[in-house]
Amino acid sequence: MIRLKIWISALILFQQINLTKDLTVTEDYQQYDKGSQTVAEIFESPCITLSMNCTISSHTICYVCRSHIDGSSMTIAAEDRDMIFVTKNVMIREGSRCCRKHLEDHRLMPASINIIKPHKIEIISLKAGDVQMLINKSQILYNQKKRLDFDDCNAISDDEYYNLTSLNKGQFDSLIKEIAAFPIRNTAVRSIRTAVVCLLCKLRLGLSNTILALLFESPDKRAVSRAIGTARKAIMKDFVPYHLGISHITRRQIIDNHTTTIARELMGGGNDTLVLVIDGTYIYIQKDVVVVDRGFRDCLGVMYSLGLDVAMPPFLDGQKQFSTAQANRSRCITK
Ligand SMILES: [Zn+2]
Repeated sequence: MIRLKIWISALILFQQINLTKDLTVTEDYQQYDKGSQTVAEIFESPCITLSMNCTISSHTICYVCRSHIDGSSMTIAAEDRDMIFVTKNVMIREGSRCCRKHLEDHRLMPASINIIKPHKIEIISLKAGDVQMLINKSQILYNQKKRLDFDDCNAISDDEYYNLTSLNKGQFDSLIKEIAAFPIRNTAVRSIRTAVVCLLCKLRLGLSNTILALLFESPDKRAVSRAIGTARKAIMKDFVPYHLGISHITRRQIIDNHTTTIARELMGGGNDTLVLVIDGTYIYIQKDVVVVDRGFRDCLGVMYSLGLDVAMPPFLDGQKQFSTAQANRSRCITK
């Protein structure tokens, strides 16, 4: 009987403890619930003051170069303000103005970003909502950041462009403008600019597609291969024919723009004579025979069709060594 009483008492005590525990959790939740605020309450919440690096904020003085603005002044894009705050810890106040020359397509040029420096430390009061917004923007910028982002005009410096593609940023942009008409699809993993960078990077550095996929955060080497193929087609269609080969320039253009007076006088030609100088480093013309190196292999057909007798060292074409006749002919040509 006593045992039964103890057992019942213990059971009641245990239930009480459990009830207290439940109550505590509920109270905690209510406490937590009371602590969460609506958006309106956040904006009404007290401000905090922070010391921040700020640029000049004026309608007449440029916040980039700090000189007096001649001509029309420009405001800064919100994306650039956020980016400069996050990456350089410099705040540009809303409404600050800069010279027109620092912008391209309404965005700050990389050279301009490099010279932006804080002018003074200001005490700025921020509401909870402002702080929350800054944190959110930082997160967005952090998540968007690619290793090499050629679609963000500020992400890659001029030197980086040159080291990867052999072109500086201006030259690369003009190449992209010329092939913009070609229907290359911008996809989530590959843009027109990235496709062309992949191709130029491969030509310059000879990297494997696997390494290129790693570098440009492409899904795999096949995606890189497709991107390179598309970029090559676009360049061959809309760029190469206008800048390379005999048909990219007219006879008149050569006479007017590329024939010097000295050459014209020395060769005894009139104003309508085209003087053509063929570089003697690689072409040797002895009587009627044109001796060329193997670099001319793709031009052989054209040269034969022009009636030229062409001599070029032969290729092995899968053989282990040349025949005696081939070797002797090769020696005659390379002498
Ligand atoms: Zn300026």
